[in-house]
Amino acid sequence: MSIVDTPERRQLRELTRAFVTREVLPHLDDWERAGEVPRALHATAAKLGLLGIGFPESVGGSGGDLLDSIIVTEELIRSGGSSGLVAALFTHGIALPHMVAAVGARTGGSLGGRLTGASSPGDDGLIERYVRPTLAGTMIGALAITEPDGGSDVAGIRTTAIRDGDHYVVNGSKTYITSGHRADFVTTAVCTDFPGSGALTLLVIDKDSPGFTVGRRLEKLGWHCSDTAELSFVDVRVPVTNRIGAENTGFLAIMQHFAAERLSLATQAYATAQRCVELAVRWCRDRQTFGRPLVGRQVVRHRLAEMHTRAEAARSYVHEVAARVAAGEPVVTEVAMAKNVAVAACDHVVDQALQLHGGFGYLRDAEVERHYRDARILGIGGGTTEIMNEIIAKGMGL
Ligand SMILES: Cc1cc2nc3c(=O)[nH]c(=O)nc-3n(C[C@H](O)[C@H](O)[C@H](O)COP(=O)(O)OP(=O)(O)OC[C@H]3O[C@@H](n4cnc5c(N)ncnc54)[C@H](O)[C@@H]3O)c2cc1C
Repeated sequence: MSIVDTPERRQLRELTRAFVTREVLPHLDDWERAGEVPRALHATAAKLGLLGIGFPESVGGSGGDLLDSIIVTEELIRSGGSSGLVAALFTHGIALPHMVAAVGARTGGSLGGRLTGASSPGDDGLIERYVRPTLAGTMIGALAITEPDGGSDVAGIRTTAIRDGDHYVVNGSKTYITSGHRADFVTTAVCTDFPGSGALTLLVIDKDSPGFTVGRRLEKLGWHCSDTAELSFVDVRVPVTNRIGAENTGFLAIMQHFAAERLSLATQAYATAQRCVELAVRWCRDRQTFGRPLVGRQVVRHRLAEMHTRAEAARSYVHEVAARVAAGEPVVTEVAMAKNVAVAACDHVVDQALQLHGGFGYLRDAEVERHYRDARILGIGGGTTEIMNEIIAKGMGL
């Protein structure tokens, strides 16, 4: 049993599993082809309380903490969903927390419940206009940090916001933005000083703002059911009331909330690995070669044993680090290690699982093929493996 298992969380698992079985599995292939999940899925997940997990009831959430969010993510994948589904349906997990933290309403410190700096006059309004409707499944939000010039160097952001009375005038562009096509609003990192100065502020920008255009739908190796967009801002006027927290607190806010995003990606990684172990075991029991099932060969059994070991070790470590984050411990280095450990386990397992499936593993009909493609982003998004290593090296005093 995992250290995070409780009777309540077992119920949460069952709820999530039932949701996937009933609402996702019959349609996932269609959504992969369509390049997005339908809005109605958000409303259904909201009604069940799944969208609101990890957000306090005072802002329209269902309560719970980071560990509860992790259980939902894990089960969405283990019961036959995918990391692409998590990215598409739970984009609010990266788009909303800064707003919630700015009014100090977040529960348990889980997704960064600490205040990110002085608040802004508009913060309470943001909860009513964006947070509640999104958790109710009637709005979709996105988070835009990455720019065409680079994503790893967050301080180097070049999209500018110049104050003009009670508005900011925003110019610049963003890329690779998850749910950017469907989003009604985008939590956007802008530079409120000269480009590249690192003086960052977060603004919530409405999709229908004049001068804001959503570019082409980016085609990808994996995460096919998750739409990914380029965004352009030309003299977009954004009310000051759409600022999250105080001016120039954006960098700190982004860094604080990276912990939850990285642990979510780590969870997607080990859960994908666990699912692929299950798929591989099932396949190896059924598949006969040279008159015996694959699982009858010691070399195959050992391979499955190693895959299982890596997935379980990653899961235990991610749970331990998540519990420490939820308890408010400053574990930036451990979060980076957890992401890298889980991604490495996942990369190994998806590759081996596909290989064990032989030719079938290479076909779109094989679930393992989707996980193999989807997994590749997990060491890139939310901070690459190399950037995690930078953080770890810093933590070692190097
Ligand atoms: C499907 C998908 C969804 C995404 N969703 C979002 C989203 O919703 N919102 C958002 O803001 N962004 C999103 N991203 C962007 C993602 O966060 C970035 O791609 C990632 O942070 C890396 O930035 P980059 O692509 O600019 O690579 P770069 O920063 O250009 O890095 C290129 C390579 O150089 C390495 N590198 C960089 N600096 C160093 C260094 N100092 N030392 C050693 N190696 C280094 C990197 O690790 C990487 O391997 C998404 C990306 C994808 C593909």
